[in-house]
Amino acid sequence: MYCSVILRGATKQIDRLFTYSVPDELAGSVIPGSLVSVPFGKGDSQRCAVVTELKDSFNGDIGLVKDLCSVISDRPVLNPDQIALIDKISDRFNCTKGDVVELMVPSCVVNHKNPTEVFVELVSRDEAQNVLENESLRSAAHINILEYLLERGKCTRKEIMANLSCSAAQVKALEDKGLVRLLKESSDNEVPQISVVEGVPEGKFTEEYDLSDEQRHAIDQILEGIDAKKDNTFLLFGITGSGKTEVYLNCAKKVISEGGSVIYMVPEISLTPQTINWIKGRLGDSVAVLHSRLTDKQRYEQWDNIRTGKARVIVGPRSGVFAPAKDLRLIILDEEHDGSYKAESHPRYSARDIARMRSKITGCSVVLGSATPSVESFYAAQMGAFKLLELKERARQEAKLPEIIPVDMKEQIKLGSGDMLSLPLRQAMSVAFSENKQVILLLNRRGFSRTLICEDCGEPVTCKNCSVAMTLHNNRRNGTQSLICHYCGYTVPSYEARCSFCNGSHFTKAGFGTQQLEEFLHKLFPHEKVLRMDQDSTMTPGAHKEIIDKFANKEASILIGTQMIAKGLDFPDVTVVGVLGADLMLASSSFKASERAFQLITQAAGRAGRGEAPGKVFIQSFRPEQPLFQFACTQNYRAFYDQEIEYRQKLRLPPYKAVGEIVLSLPDEDMLIRRSNELAKYLKDFLGFQDKRYQFEVFGPVPCVIYELRGRYRMSFVIKAVNKSAVNGVFKRLIADFDHTKYPMSFDNDPQDG
Ligand code: ADP
Ligand code: ZN
Repeated sequence: MYCSVILRGATKQIDRLFTYSVPDELAGSVIPGSLVSVPFGKGDSQRCAVVTELKDSFNGDIGLVKDLCSVISDRPVLNPDQIALIDKISDRFNCTKGDVVELMVPSCVVNHKNPTEVFVELVSRDEAQNVLENESLRSAAHINILEYLLERGKCTRKEIMANLSCSAAQVKALEDKGLVRLLKESSDNEVPQISVVEGVPEGKFTEEYDLSDEQRHAIDQILEGIDAKKDNTFLLFGITGSGKTEVYLNCAKKVISEGGSVIYMVPEISLTPQTINWIKGRLGDSVAVLHSRLTDKQRYEQWDNIRTGKARVIVGPRSGVFAPAKDLRLIILDEEHDGSYKAESHPRYSARDIARMRSKITGCSVVLGSATPSVESFYAAQMGAFKLLELKERARQEAKLPEIIPVDMKEQIKLGSGDMLSLPLRQAMSVAFSENKQVILLLNRRGFSRTLICEDCGEPVTCKNCSVAMTLHNNRRNGTQSLICHYCGYTVPSYEARCSFCNGSHFTKAGFGTQQLEEFLHKLFPHEKVLRMDQDSTMTPGAHKEIIDKFANKEASILIGTQMIAKGLDFPDVTVVGVLGADLMLASSSFKASERAFQLITQAAGRAGRGEAPGKVFIQSFRPEQPLFQFACTQNYRAFYDQEIEYRQKLRLPPYKAVGEIVLSLPDEDMLIRRSNELAKYLKDFLGFQDKRYQFEVFGPVPCVIYELRGRYRMSFVIKAVNKSAVNGVFKRLIADFDHTKYPMSFDNDPQDG
């Protein structure tokens, strides 16, 4: 008996099917989907692999075939439908089959068999907390270890060392201080249960409602689709508060009552203990949860329950789409437009696309839900590829939409209030504080992207070719500044810039950050406590949850932050929301800028007045009369969509054409410039010879928005083509024709930002 295997995590050079012979004593236990250990290469080093098929014969040189060594997991780790997905994902997202296996078989599964291991636990939680609070520890590693243990409880030393990059000696030092204890145990000893999180109210979703007619209709349509066992995709388009969750839960309940499984994905940030409790409260114990705060052991337990079919509902972020669900009947993506469904490092997969690929193989249905669907999904619904289901009414009659107030910052600057907080917003904040209410300020400032805004008319300087805002770059060689278009590369020195709207030549550099805002608030409201949530303040594990908890417990009255705070959070005492620097969202160079801004403002507005008190939302902009802000103020998605789709069509942007991005990064700037010019020449020559049907266009090289990253300089190329597979065709040529060590490139066929 022989078998074909894929090596887990294989690089391009060894990303093939390899044949091994199955020794007699393992014959019964090796089947397609088994995780096995095989000898590989000259030194016969052990590698982890997945069996894709069994074969009776082998028509190559039998003398060269090696025996596989052992079976790592007694049951198969992949279903047949997952095996069928591997090639498709590898092809679509330009990664190896071995990369896909790595996504499907997480390391907690590979490492599972570990008879005895060293565990670490805190001697006393209070003591650990004290030590952290009085800042008596000098070593960052020690602090990290204590925080890790406080967050997760007991775990293995191996895991701590791997996840925090620290040494056994550093753990030992904490033992010597009497803060932790080390234990030798069998790792199968006790399996911690992920129970309902304490202290969080469970009631909210446990009660079943009388469904509205709209909800009933949506549920009936989806259940019909599931019964048909065809790859139906539904777009559930429902305003915030229309009761989409109720639709998901009803459908999920029906599926599990018939013995099927459901994958229920939510954006990374909304996987709060509340969400998990609501779902458990309604669907019972057959819920498995996969999230980033689990230890390897907890994660393995959840994963194993899914594989055996004990867990029938899988709740998780984008990686949930790879779960080994048994008899999969339904995949739900809540907030389908959310950026976290797209992986931002290799392999850059999109969970939304993979859900659809999985439904084509298994015949399960897909439900995409949102109040602000992505333009691509809404277009697909308009074209009839997705079935559109609408919820137009708020589920709770008494829930009121907040009042949305646009503020013109040109006037505010003339009045002397500066460009951070307008007078009406300040007033509303004072009133809120006097009533013991809370305020959220949203300031979305990605990366270091800055732009010039005309002081006369408020327009950002835009590219003459692409009508997207241009980004300000410092020229490191001679200390000058230039404006660069991140689509076509068009560049002007900043002193030559003219407003494309009124031809003005006086500009403000737009862009203040969350830290500056925080300092300003301390001066303005010295008695109020401020919490700040952005990428810098949420680096450590658990920091995000801590900020949310503090704000929920009303330890602070102001929460400021980037887009992280706009999604899914539910604070009943928030009555005022400010959206600051709204123009900056549009001034990002991405063609998705308007879409993101509309989504963000709508979601942020949904944060105000969730409780009894009605909410107010202030949108601060230099151009409040812009249609986009008007659409957001009236929560008019369709008007926004109509304008946006026209723009996309005019500029031949997705969904009309596919866009791909290639980023070349090198530590030496001169080398980078030389090699990107070579690459540009190659692309232009090569694409120039292609059939016109592919409609290739190439732009670049252009410096990336974040030009210097981790010691490397980065240049980007954008290609457009008739569809994604044509874009992938170009990527494959580049991978084949260029030496990766000399031309380190990354490829993305669905770029999210410019
Ligand atoms: P969405 O996800 O569409 O923004 P939610 O699912 O959060 O909306 O629902 C909003 C609120 O309405 C929740 O508090 C929910 O419990 C409640 N709700 C949902 N369906 C009904 C219904 N049929 N009758 C009464 N209240 C409902
Ligand atoms: Zn341009």
